[in-house]
Amino acid sequence: MKFNTKVIHAGVHPDEATGAIMTPIYQTSTYVQDEIGVHKGYEYSRTGNPTRQALENNLAAIEGGKYGACFGSGLAAIDAVIKMLNPGDEVISTNDLYGGSYRIFTTIFQKYGIKFHFVDMLDIDNIEEKINSNTKLIWLETPSNPMMNIIDVKKVCQIAKKNNILVGVDNTFATPYLQNPLALGADLVMHSVTKYLGGHSDVVMGALVTSDKVIADEIYRIQNSSGAVCGPMDSFLVLRGIKTLHLRMQRHCENGEKIALFLDNHPLIAKVYWPGLQSHINHDIAKNQMKGFGGMISFTLVGDDIEMAKKVVSKTELFTLAESLGGVESLIGHPSTMTHASIPREERLKSGVVDSLIRLSVGVEDVTDLISDLEKALKI
Ligand SMILES: *Cc1c(COP(=O)(O)O)cnc(C)c1O
Repeated sequence: MKFNTKVIHAGVHPDEATGAIMTPIYQTSTYVQDEIGVHKGYEYSRTGNPTRQALENNLAAIEGGKYGACFGSGLAAIDAVIKMLNPGDEVISTNDLYGGSYRIFTTIFQKYGIKFHFVDMLDIDNIEEKINSNTKLIWLETPSNPMMNIIDVKKVCQIAKKNNILVGVDNTFATPYLQNPLALGADLVMHSVTKYLGGHSDVVMGALVTSDKVIADEIYRIQNSSGAVCGPMDSFLVLRGIKTLHLRMQRHCENGEKIALFLDNHPLIAKVYWPGLQSHINHDIAKNQMKGFGGMISFTLVGDDIEMAKKVVSKTELFTLAESLGGVESLIGHPSTMTHASIPREERLKSGVVDSLIRLSVGVEDVTDLISDLEKALKI
């Protein structure tokens, strides 16, 4: 099955009891047993729920993996990944990380004795420098948030394999439509389903996908033991959202390109970060490992004035000022005071999150309306 068919058909079957073509919302906590231990595959909805199961199977298929597990949020999925580790273990992570990932690593797991190193993975040597016998996991985001850095996943995986280290990729920005980390050698893929997979800004959810049975069993054990599962209604909404993932992503990419070019030619804009631009430092790697460049764009203003940046983000009308990304509607955000406020300023500046950095999640509206909205907001 090709991707565009999988998004619609993989993992879902007409309901056996009624013939309903859409997977029903099995809004139930428990399941009747014929006698002790005799049931139809479900006992209790933390452990398993048919609506969630359909989504987990669908996600595994579209990501090119064997096993999917869904959680109450993207961070709950990351939480499950780190819970596979033990005190004394070390993790090497990208330095321009989603703010919430940085926060869970440093304020939750560090105190349980897991050590995190944040390195610039644009230079692979930085990873090798931190590897020792305690290193158990390399965690990366590509494209990264909000700098749109592109990490060479294949290269990272080669180093990891040599040293017997797992690689987990936060594939939220690319989605399975643009990039499949498992095919590039990663062991584990994570999604904030909240973003493009849900696609309509109406659900908070996370997911993990792997092809490794040992990892999958461990993830399911943690999913059931820690209990951060998502509900059947949300699972249904995401199954519905994924059916148009390929169509939405195609438009996100087209609109993203036109807006990146518009910004790149604007006199008030200092730098545009979008992996599809020739000027992007890792444009070639992006071309190799992604099928397109997506709708996430960051840019800085000439003079790097924070007040000017705040004015721009408050003046757009179609680009709504909000956290989050990946929905059908366009959003605008100011990372240093919003999504990345929990990262100390010095750490932020080191990774390029300067005061005037503005991030766009380009939606699927008519691109001429989006460009004139930005044009107006930039008349300062
Ligand atoms: C939003 C996001 C997360 C966290 O996901 P939630 O669903 O908000 O918990 C993790 N990584 C990236 C790249 C994100 O954009």
